[in-house]
Amino acid sequence: MDIQPLLDRHGRVATDLRVSLTDRCNLRCSYCMPAEGLDWMPHEAALTDDEVIRLITIGVERLGIDEVRFTGGEPLLRRGLPDLVARTKALTPSPGVSITTNGLGLDRIAGALAAAGLDRVNVSLDSVRPDDFAAITRRDRLSDVIAGLAAARAAGLDPVKVNAVLLRGINDTQAPELLRWCLERGYHLRFIEQMPLDPQHGWSRADMVTADEILATLAAEFDLEPTGSPRGSAPAEEFLVDGGPGTVGVIASVTRPFCGDCDRVRLTADGQVRDCLFATTESDLRTPLRGGASDAELADQWVAAMLGKRAGHGIDDPTFLQPDRPMSAIGG
Ligand code: SAM
Ligand code: SF4
Repeated sequence: MDIQPLLDRHGRVATDLRVSLTDRCNLRCSYCMPAEGLDWMPHEAALTDDEVIRLITIGVERLGIDEVRFTGGEPLLRRGLPDLVARTKALTPSPGVSITTNGLGLDRIAGALAAAGLDRVNVSLDSVRPDDFAAITRRDRLSDVIAGLAAARAAGLDPVKVNAVLLRGINDTQAPELLRWCLERGYHLRFIEQMPLDPQHGWSRADMVTADEILATLAAEFDLEPTGSPRGSAPAEEFLVDGGPGTVGVIASVTRPFCGDCDRVRLTADGQVRDCLFATTESDLRTPLRGGASDAELADQWVAAMLGKRAGHGIDDPTFLQPDRPMSAIGG
């Protein structure tokens, strides 16, 4: 079958699909969700496993998607996750398959995910101090995340990556501590600048811990050297730590945007295509999917959905508008 690339008007081609499997979560990270949670998507609004797989299949077989990452909300809350991984991995050509998870319950399911063909896992962990972990996530579950990480490693998943967001006044001085903890265990740590995607609209540019600040804090304790490997569309800038082999990454989404190289497209749990995390519009694939559209028609609608992708997220533009959907409902 000929591939119809997911090309936008700025010449970028999307090949990396982020699939949100649910907007629900068992943590309440302050930069992502309010303490009381959100009005969850009604059950019938969410795509079924078969519907998710049908759209992923169209993406892979017709539109050139070669990487699929399951996220959320918390993707481990989706009961059929190992099966979704196996069915995605079985497509031709077989895409890379990964998940981004908060790690709760990963200790029980890491083996099944690895057996299903999962290639990689990213676990979010902002502090290894129980009190600060609980302050950020509003749940006292640090030991579960640590157990999940260990299980991912024991299941043979490689690399095991850790994503951390630093928050002013809570964990902003803990970058070196987190890095040491990850290096000792063979996890690959990446810091992500906090982005304006929380429903409480609590983000402020002035308060945000920047990539420069993170690197300066790390440089006080470690020798950091750019790895020199081409970054391509990968958002992280990577550094060798103390001559290697350990590395650390910084994802400067706000201060050093990488929109020009973006190769991502997102599918929400209710079947909306989003061409950007910060898109303020989305394209509905669920209605035609449920209305009997053919694969070719769905592919055409998906291709058309990419044409509105903006050149950049525009966070620094005075006219910037935060998207209506919070991060947890888009799929980070
Ligand atoms: N629940 C899973 C998790 O936490 O890994 C997957 C979804 S979560 C939305 C995906 C990633 O987005 C996490 O690494 C989280 O730290 C990050 N994230 C959430 N809100 C963010 C924000 N406002 N700015 C930067 N990163 C954010
Ligand atoms: Fe849940 Fe992940 Fe959002 Fe934290 S970042 S509240 S774990 S979806």
